[in-house]
Amino acid sequence: MIEAIVLDWAGTTVDYGSRAPIIAFKNAFAHFGIGLSEETIRQDVGLDKLTHVRKILQIPEIANSWETRQPTIPLTKATAEIYAQFQIEINKVLAETAQLKPGMTDLIKFANTHHIQLATTTGYTQVMLNQILPLAAQQGYTPTYNITSEQTNHVGRPKPDMVALAMQKMHISDPSHVIKVGDTVNDILEGKNAGTISIGVVDGGNLIGLPKQAFDQLNIEQRDRYRAKAAAILKEAGADEIINNIADLIPLIESIDDQQHEMPLLLTPGPLTTSFTVKETMLVDHGTWDDDYKELTQWVRRELVTLGHASNEEYTAVLMQGSGSFGVEAAIGTAIPKRDATLLIAANGAYGERMIEIADYLAIPHVDLHVPEDQAVTLGAVEKALTAHPEVTHFAMVHCETTTGILNPIETIIPALTDNGIITLVDAMSSFGGVPIDLAQLQVDYLITSSNKCVQGVPGFSVVLAKKNTLQATKDNARSLALDLYAQYQTFEEHDGKWRFTSPTHVVYAFAEALRELEQEGGVTARTHRYQANETLLREGMQDLGYELVIDETVQSPIITSFKYPTVDFNFQAFYEYLKNRGFIIYPGKVSKCDSFRIGNIGEVSADDINRLLNLIKTYTKKELQLSVND
Ligand SMILES: *Cc1c(COP(=O)(O)O)cnc(C)c1O
Repeated sequence: MIEAIVLDWAGTTVDYGSRAPIIAFKNAFAHFGIGLSEETIRQDVGLDKLTHVRKILQIPEIANSWETRQPTIPLTKATAEIYAQFQIEINKVLAETAQLKPGMTDLIKFANTHHIQLATTTGYTQVMLNQILPLAAQQGYTPTYNITSEQTNHVGRPKPDMVALAMQKMHISDPSHVIKVGDTVNDILEGKNAGTISIGVVDGGNLIGLPKQAFDQLNIEQRDRYRAKAAAILKEAGADEIINNIADLIPLIESIDDQQHEMPLLLTPGPLTTSFTVKETMLVDHGTWDDDYKELTQWVRRELVTLGHASNEEYTAVLMQGSGSFGVEAAIGTAIPKRDATLLIAANGAYGERMIEIADYLAIPHVDLHVPEDQAVTLGAVEKALTAHPEVTHFAMVHCETTTGILNPIETIIPALTDNGIITLVDAMSSFGGVPIDLAQLQVDYLITSSNKCVQGVPGFSVVLAKKNTLQATKDNARSLALDLYAQYQTFEEHDGKWRFTSPTHVVYAFAEALRELEQEGGVTARTHRYQANETLLREGMQDLGYELVIDETVQSPIITSFKYPTVDFNFQAFYEYLKNRGFIIYPGKVSKCDSFRIGNIGEVSADDINRLLNLIKTYTKKELQLSVND
């Protein structure tokens, strides 16, 4: 979203044809008997005026001319002399200088109604600018911040310092949300160097240089020739767009806003941001009976087992239509025999609670181990529950409890239970693919994930990685026809990858591409590394801004991070909207004991994205919440 426009003065917003500085330069040099062509002057317009005088004096003919005309004043003093005269001359033409160019009134109105801030940078000095400002104000033009190079230690264009200072004053950190507009090469370079969208304006600009009347009198072809020439020079300097009239910025901003709106980054733990190439695979339709599709399904199933560090002899991957919960329900509903079985469920968040609800729905006898939601499940607590309930035959827990971001220690809990002959189920929905999981070592019986979490596919099916021996003994256990994991497995095996009921074909293709991209990234190790880097950056950055964590760092997963509301009257919805309008979708909190929100670290998200987010949150915290923030 465009938050601000940084505008140049002469030739861009006022002073059609950028006449005033030209006339003033001409007269200042003429005062000392030196004739200057307009072309000579125009070459360096946009620089601060002192530098500009110095540059002109470096031209050998001009230097010679000075020495003949002013034999009593050494060349080394010439810059100061001419510059002093320039200040006198520019004052004489100031009234014309401040005349708003056509289109400005529309642009100002648009900016006001769209809450777009206006600021200016200029080659004029503060003294000169101070004379222009009231004249501009009389015409309805009052930019919030007006920067001259005196405010940036005399570092002017084409350096980005003046734009950077304007942005700082406006509390804008992301230069892609800023447009810099100007009519000279130095303007374009300034915008590019500041990282903003840099736009060149042609009509009434320095590169055409004609007064309005003269330009209007040209025929269309002549005008277009002038425009094309000026546009080519600004393009060559790197302009992102060229406009004729300053009011042409309006449709341009609208279309930039649309583009930036189109692709928000999902900082949510699934669905999450997928790569363009993953999305692209879904542009083709596929039949479910097709051999290629069945082969692809088989390949996906084998790859998933490999991703879990297991052999395809010992483990199998059963895909199940629907969201992640369908996989959890299918696994629970199929794994537990209809008689003489009790399920122990450890819950420290909403997803553990959901398993309890599933057991209730399916009328499965269960014992619940409730652990506070800001604490991890421990082997000690599970063993204690087992001692108290010797009837337990099955055990279920969540790996990454996405409610808070806690990573429960399955690697200590699951093997201990397996050793005791207990059949285990792990909801590893939001961790598989993003955190290393070694099935062979865990010896877990069922591990559930879905297409739209760390493998970075789109929503549509869940995955149950099951120990073959265990699954093969579950015939007739299922409480549901569609969610019969055993029958689903049998169909895949007996029909070479044919799904039992209609399958999400597009999603499977996208998932296969996501698996290939996971491999290209360097596998789960590399992905964990990236997520971990995102998480650390986010957590530490937020703590720097004064945000407090909900859970202890020692149990924090690299998947998602929960933060407490910064103030008691914090308006999450407003915060959410602010970030959404700037391209980031975050997640509300889910813990009951304190008000919180969550930010996911997974998906096609880089450190750069996290840094952009942190900058936005910093601005919001300072400006909207009025909280003091470390700089
Ligand atoms: C995402 C998720 C699920 C599944 O939720 P659905 O909305 O059914 O996809 C289950 N458990 C955990 C831990 C999750 O993160």
